[in-house]
Amino acid sequence: MRAIGLLGGMSWESTAVYYRIMNEHVRDRLGALHSARLLLNSYDFAEIAEMQARGEWHLAGERLACDARKLQELGAAAIMICTNTMHEVAGFVEAAISVPLLHIVDPTAEAIRAAKVKRPALLATRFTMERRFYVERMGERFGIDVIIPDAAGREVIHTGIYDELCRGIVSATTRQAYLNEIERLSERGADSVIFGCTEIGLLLDQKDVPVPVFDTTRIHAVGAVDWALS
Ligand code: GLU
Repeated sequence: MRAIGLLGGMSWESTAVYYRIMNEHVRDRLGALHSARLLLNSYDFAEIAEMQARGEWHLAGERLACDARKLQELGAAAIMICTNTMHEVAGFVEAAISVPLLHIVDPTAEAIRAAKVKRPALLATRFTMERRFYVERMGERFGIDVIIPDAAGREVIHTGIYDELCRGIVSATTRQAYLNEIERLSERGADSVIFGCTEIGLLLDQKDVPVPVFDTTRIHAVGAVDWALS
């Protein structure tokens, strides 16, 4: 089994889920006392969120790149950025390492294609929904045309992530607001939903949602373990 380096803590609420899923998946695959070989660099998310809010993506990129490099030096055979949003700076990380970056979009897009759905809606931070890095990779590399919530919907989803989910708050009101947004997106033609923020799985799962769900946390974590064992 190869070791994987995680850039996590963005937020730790979802990094804890990554840690659990990756260990459980190793146990499912190898049995006995086996568990995942992981190196975790966990940030103080307040510092990262400030850089995002100020638009200091290059500073955040340099920070992640430097830490990815350190994880590689410590023995990581691949690096993961445990958040969708910070894939905005995936290029900085890739330039700093000589091992693969296991990009969150790629296994998600493959799962969408395998499910044969055509128009997934994207629920994510405003950065992921509005900047180009995510939607373009889905479109250009995988031919997937993603539906984005309107401005009011983006506000609801984004605020729920930063004001609640990243702080460990899971509320019935926000759950209903997310479900209402999914319904509106279905009326606009969405046939499935990408949980394109690693904390959304704390609020909702497939049994709450009437269309197929692609939970990026689970897909990314399981895909990385399969890579480590391949
Ligand atoms: N974890 C979230 C994501 O997947 C949001 C927090 C962040 O900005 O990194 O995008």
